[in-house]
Amino acid sequence: MTPDERFRDELRTWLLEHPPPGIVVAATSEEAQTLRHWQRTLHSGRWVGVQWPVEYGGRGASLTQVAIYNQELARVDAPPIPGRAGVSLVGPTLMAHGTEDQRVRWMPRILAADDLWCQLFSEPGAGSDLAGLSTRAERRAGVYVVTGQKVWSSYASFADWGIALVRTDGDVAPHKGISMLAIPMHAKGVDVRPLRQITGDAEFNEVFLDGVEVPVENLIGPENQGWLVAGTTLVNERGASFVWKEQVLLTVSLELLTQACARVGQLGDPLVRQRLARSWIDVEIFRLHNERTLARLMRGEEIGPESSLVKLFWTGASQRLHETAVALLGPAALLMPGSPGSPGSPGDDRGIDRGRWAHGLLSTRANSIMGGTTEIQRNVIGERLLGLPREPR
Ligand SMILES: Cc1cc2nc3c(=O)[nH]c(=O)nc-3n(C[C@H](O)[C@H](O)[C@H](O)COP(=O)(O)OP(=O)(O)OC[C@H]3O[C@@H](n4cnc5c(N)ncnc54)[C@H](O)[C@@H]3O)c2cc1C
Repeated sequence: MTPDERFRDELRTWLLEHPPPGIVVAATSEEAQTLRHWQRTLHSGRWVGVQWPVEYGGRGASLTQVAIYNQELARVDAPPIPGRAGVSLVGPTLMAHGTEDQRVRWMPRILAADDLWCQLFSEPGAGSDLAGLSTRAERRAGVYVVTGQKVWSSYASFADWGIALVRTDGDVAPHKGISMLAIPMHAKGVDVRPLRQITGDAEFNEVFLDGVEVPVENLIGPENQGWLVAGTTLVNERGASFVWKEQVLLTVSLELLTQACARVGQLGDPLVRQRLARSWIDVEIFRLHNERTLARLMRGEEIGPESSLVKLFWTGASQRLHETAVALLGPAALLMPGSPGSPGSPGDDRGIDRGRWAHGLLSTRANSIMGGTTEIQRNVIGERLLGLPREPR
C-alpha cells in the first residue's frame, strides 16, 4: 500500500466507526451544537486540519491526501465542520502572518472546536471591491476601537471570534490603510443579526460593530498591511481544496438522482437519459479540471487565473444538476422537510431524498456569488487568460 492508499484506508475505516450526523447546515443553535460535537469527534481521531503541520496539531497531509480527505468525507455525505473558517482561513493566515503567541493561543482551540471563527470581510458597500471597506478602527491606549458594519458573515451567530478587515488609515490609497484584527464576537458593542436565506436557513448574518474595544495584541500582521495579510486568507478561501469535496458531492448527487429516476420508472425515457448524460459529462469535465489542478500543484506550479475557470464551471454544473433533478422528478422534488403540510418532513418518506433537490436548487444560486462572483471570474478569464483589454476603472 502506498502512503496515500494507507491514508484513505485509515480514514475510511475511521468513518465507518464514526458515521457523520445527518444534517446539512447549522441553521439552529441545536444543529450548531451537533456540528460542533461532530468536529470534536473528528478531532479525537486527528481528522481536523489534516493539512496543518504536525507541530500545530495537523498531519502535514500532502495535496493528494487533502484531496482524498475531502473526497472521503463527501462520499459519506459528512456535513461541513462548523469551524471551517478557522481551519481553512484563520489557521493558514496565522501560520503566515501571526505571532507565536497568537498561534499558541488560537490554533489548538480552532481544531478542537472550542472556538468557532467567522470571516468579517464583506460590507454593504464593499464585496467584489473589498478594498473600499469602511469599518474604522482607531487606536487608543492599548485597544482598537472598531465601528462599522459587516454583512454576509457565515456562522457569525455561533462564532466566538471574527477575523476582520478594518480601516486603520483613511488618508492613503484604499488598500494601504487596511489592517486585520481578531474580534471577540461576545464583546460589548458586537450585535449579530441573522439573515434568512431563500432556503429558509439563516447561515448568514449582519454584524454591527459599535465602539468595540479590541486589544492591540489581536492585530494579525503589521498595522496597515491587512490587504497583504488578507491575500493569504483569500487564496485559501478560493484555493483548490474545496473542489475535491464538491466533485464528490456532485458525483453522489448524480447517483442519487439516477436512483430516484429509476424508482419513478423514468430511465426508459430517452429524453431523461439524455439529461442525465449531460449531467454526467458536467461531472466528468469538473473531475478532469480538478485532476489538472492537482497535477499542476504537485509540480509546484501556481494555479493562478485558471481557478476562475474551475469556479465558473463548478457554479454552472452544480446549478444545472439541481435544475435537471427538479425537471425530471417533478413537483415532489420541490418539497423540503418543514414546509407547511410538507410530505417531506423528517421521518416522512413521501418527499424525495429528504428535500435535497429543493434545498440544492435554491442554495446553489449562491454559488454564483460566493468566493468571487461569476462576473468577476469572467473578468479574470477575459483579462488574464484571454488577454482581452482590462475593464476601465
Ligand atoms: C454563500 C455565501 C457565503 C458568504 N460568506 C461570507 C463570509 O463568511 N464573510 C464575508 O465577509 N463575506 C461572505 N460572503 C460575501 C461574498 O464574499 C460577497 O457576496 C461577494 O464578494 C460579492 O460581493 P457583494 O455581495 O457586495 O456584491 P457586489 O460586489 O456589490 O456585486 C453586485 C453585482 O455587481 C457585479 N459586479 C461587481 N463588480 C463588478 C465588476 N468589476 N465587473 C462586472 N460586474 C461586477 C457582481 O458580479 C454582482 O453581480 C458570502 C457570500 C455568499 C453567497
